[in-house]
Amino acid sequence: MRKVAIYGKGGIGKSTTTQNTVAALVEMGKRVMVVGCDPKADSTRLLLGGLAQRSVLDTLREEGEDVELADIRSKGFCSSLCVESGGPEPGVGCAGRGIITSINMLEQLGAYDEDEKLDYVFYDVLGDVVCGGFAMPIREGKAEEIYIVCSGEMMAMYAANNICKGIQKFAETGVVRLGGLICNSRQVDNEREMMTKFAERLGTQLVHFVPRENDVQRAEIQRKTVIEWNPKCKQADEYRALAKAIDANKMLVRPKPLSIQELEDLLMQYGLLG
Ligand code: ADP
Ligand code: MG
Repeated sequence: MRKVAIYGKGGIGKSTTTQNTVAALVEMGKRVMVVGCDPKADSTRLLLGGLAQRSVLDTLREEGEDVELADIRSKGFCSSLCVESGGPEPGVGCAGRGIITSINMLEQLGAYDEDEKLDYVFYDVLGDVVCGGFAMPIREGKAEEIYIVCSGEMMAMYAANNICKGIQKFAETGVVRLGGLICNSRQVDNEREMMTKFAERLGTQLVHFVPRENDVQRAEIQRKTVIEWNPKCKQADEYRALAKAIDANKMLVRPKPLSIQELEDLLMQYGLLG
């Protein structure tokens, strides 16, 4: 079983990209579980055809410890398995804690057991690695392979670089490695070239360049991945290419984060090409 986590700045497209990639993987016949690690609990909406009924934390709050796998895990598109860890009410408590509780609960209930025959588990983790809670999947070896969703916008690159710092730290003692960058395009000048260079400088690769495309919104309104909404559209093939690249990927590295100066030089260099 490959244990993958998707990180990246808030709003960059982690949940959209994760679910579309998972849709492509299940379409290829892989058995995949998605664990949403964002208190928004919207990491599985497109696979489930609507927001999950209840998160793991909701279920624990309402039912106590007497929980079954079927209470917290639902079947989505093409038999994908969907879990939302959930979180506390805004402003109360630590959201990172929900992730720890949820993964422990899934383990106890046998969600990762051999007989589940999972090919992949995907963790969709919010934001930056600042708080230990959100670093938890990589700290505890729950996720071994990280992909960072990024764009050519400065803040997305800052976040990606910070996440690399986190991975670098935990890779010293743990199994976690960086699998690559996924560019979710914001149509910045020279974006593909800059992301290719950025990935190279980090010691990794650009796994795929996902174009910005309104079909993503059209599918989203219907609560579907692009792959389910219109399997023949061009964007569906982009996600299939991304899924294939991840499936074939053997390049797992300890990243080498850039200094702020190096990052800004890179932005300057490509931004000025016009
Ligand atoms: P995150 O999970 O990183 O916070 P989301 O996956 O929720 O981000 O994406 C934020 C918004 O960006 C979504 O509402 C989605 O419609 C849009 N989006 C993501 N990727 C694309 C894309 N490739 N083309 C067009 N819109 C996109
Ligand atoms: Mg999200």
